[in-house]
Amino acid sequence: MLLTPGPTPVPEFIRKAMSELTIHHRTKEFELIFENTRKLLLEILDMPEAIILASTGTGAMEACVTNLTHKKALVINSGKFGQRFTKICEAFNISHIEIKNEWNTAVKVEDVIEIIKQDKDIDAIYIQICESAGGLRHPYEQIAKEVKKINKNIMIIADGITAIGVERVNSSNLDAIITGSQKAFMLPPGLSMIGLSLEAVKKLKAKPSGYYLNLASELKKQKTNTTAYTAATTLIIGLKHMLEHMKNIGFENIYKKTKLRANATRKALIEIGFDIYPKTPADAMTTVYTEYSNEIRKILKTKYNVSIAGGQDHLKGLILRINHMGLVEDFEASWIVNAIELTLDELQIRTFDGQANKIFSNIMFKGKV
Ligand SMILES: *Cc1c(COP(=O)(O)O)cnc(C)c1O
Repeated sequence: MLLTPGPTPVPEFIRKAMSELTIHHRTKEFELIFENTRKLLLEILDMPEAIILASTGTGAMEACVTNLTHKKALVINSGKFGQRFTKICEAFNISHIEIKNEWNTAVKVEDVIEIIKQDKDIDAIYIQICESAGGLRHPYEQIAKEVKKINKNIMIIADGITAIGVERVNSSNLDAIITGSQKAFMLPPGLSMIGLSLEAVKKLKAKPSGYYLNLASELKKQKTNTTAYTAATTLIIGLKHMLEHMKNIGFENIYKKTKLRANATRKALIEIGFDIYPKTPADAMTTVYTEYSNEIRKILKTKYNVSIAGGQDHLKGLILRINHMGLVEDFEASWIVNAIELTLDELQIRTFDGQANKIFSNIMFKGKV
């Protein structure tokens, strides 16, 4: 059972859809597939424009940094993925500053406002909606709203790789939303998507940048339902099937269920003695702090057949991250809290009494809070 917050398992109907013969990308047949995928993508992103790239999420992050920063970037860094925006700026010699916080701490709206008031060169802000390194949620809506009040020309670029498909993202003050294939969309890695505002489109057209990750030339092609270079046809077919499936279930129904699952898991783990790591948790995953992270993960894998994630860098061996993104089955979500409780018993940390699963089930299935 794969319950890591990315990659997520690829469901059978997607694997089947992607097992058809490869079709040529410069055909009416593929253009129609692309058109339908693009429409659904615009709908879930709730943005006027979108681009699909043949890269993992980091490619889309790089494309946004190089195409949407003309002067100076402000990077919100509360973890590995925030830090990645800074590393991209460094790689391209793009002027930037950072607001750095511990991985369990969201950026303060006031800190962002203070910096943009002081430094008039900043023309783009890069932020994660959910910083996956610690399962932390940033107050991106308030930041975007307050920044736009001060200067509507500052681009707000939100990395929503672990937010799109998880919760309803408020795109009203965002200029770009980045997402990728291997998280909530349950596809193999290799595809990234960027939603764009009309202001962002204007800005990237004004000063086109790069070659393969040139968003101006790519967008021009994609508006006609084709791609500048060979399209990742198989993955795009997978994306189309997943978006159709999600729309059939209802995007709102998925968001509601994911929220409930996250809440039930969190409460169940608190009940058996864990502390939630992030001060403001996102619903994409549950992250708990524990010095027994490695031991717990090892028993979970070998004895109970579940794979969850640990931490990286200074959080190595100190956190557990359990995925809630995508179409997680109820029996999977309920099994993981039970398996963790059994593991605590095995490690002689806490005697098993079924309390985790009881709390989980009461919240998930009996409507208790
Ligand atoms: C997974 C992830 C990415 C993208 O990483 P890739 O390995 O390039 O797909 C970016 N941001 C966040 C918040 C992520 O969780």
